[in-house]
Amino acid sequence: MFKLIQRALVVFATLSMIPLASASEMKSIAVESHAAPMQPIMIQGPMPIEAEYFASLLTDVRVEQAGNAKFYLGNLNGYPIVVAQTSKGLENTAAATAVGIERYRPRAIISQGTSGGHDTSLQVGDIVLGKRSVNSNNFKTPKLAAGEGSDPMNWIPMDIMASEESAGEGDAAVDAEKIRYYMGSSELLASAHAVKSTYTRGKVVEGTIGSGNFWNNEIDRMTWLHTNLGTSVEEMETSSAAMVSDAYGIPFLGVRVLSNNLTNNGKYDPSTAADCQKFVKEIVLHYISTL
Ligand code: SAH
Repeated sequence: MFKLIQRALVVFATLSMIPLASASEMKSIAVESHAAPMQPIMIQGPMPIEAEYFASLLTDVRVEQAGNAKFYLGNLNGYPIVVAQTSKGLENTAAATAVGIERYRPRAIISQGTSGGHDTSLQVGDIVLGKRSVNSNNFKTPKLAAGEGSDPMNWIPMDIMASEESAGEGDAAVDAEKIRYYMGSSELLASAHAVKSTYTRGKVVEGTIGSGNFWNNEIDRMTWLHTNLGTSVEEMETSSAAMVSDAYGIPFLGVRVLSNNLTNNGKYDPSTAADCQKFVKEIVLHYISTL
């Protein structure tokens, strides 16, 4: 019995001493380890006309639906991109941004699409790079009694992120009476400036994007927002995506083309949506080249 075990040990020792090279007559394949995966860039557009052109630029596309959002996962020149068709408005955009971040961990997010001008010097077809974005319907109203009506020109800005404490009255409420701006990423802005000359439909300027579930057609209201919040354009998405991107610590930029501008009789033109996406493609390619 002891002899047997000893023999077995000798055979095992001999086998385990066979050098690796002796396996060379067998077929083999060496699987290399991977480089670290590239983190995708997320491009958001609310409506199909604001997302489908960009999605059509991608190769190896896979589509995933989450609630009201549709994500196109693919590559642009070998770099991973997620196009998020968010649906319109602040809630859909916030949800799509959070779900998109949790699922795909983007390294940067661009919210792009159409907008309405608040600035008479901007024409339909011009593009505003979001130096800042702001929620243009976060307000508290002064007190007016029954029968005294509503006075939107006297509404007070309200920062919903200012305090985790009381609402309505008291010191915390007074502290919250301010406008909150989300600044655009300086790296993404730099890439946008670097490719500005590729955009020929209009001019490309820095400005303030105002977002709210509101389509203003009152010139005095638009002028009020332009004067008090500094808005260049209004739309329904950017500031909510900026807020969620900030919460997750992700670089963010809004890029908005004017599809309409009532302040200078600029008629609605939906063809601006595709031109904006073409320009955003140039921004993304430049940004990728800096990584
Ligand atoms: N259902 C509305 C249209 C909403 S479309 C209607 O029937 O009139 C709104 C979309 O276009 C939003 O995604 C918003 O970001 C964008 N948009 C373009 N111009 C806008 C403007 N002047 N005001 C608000 N949103 C605008």
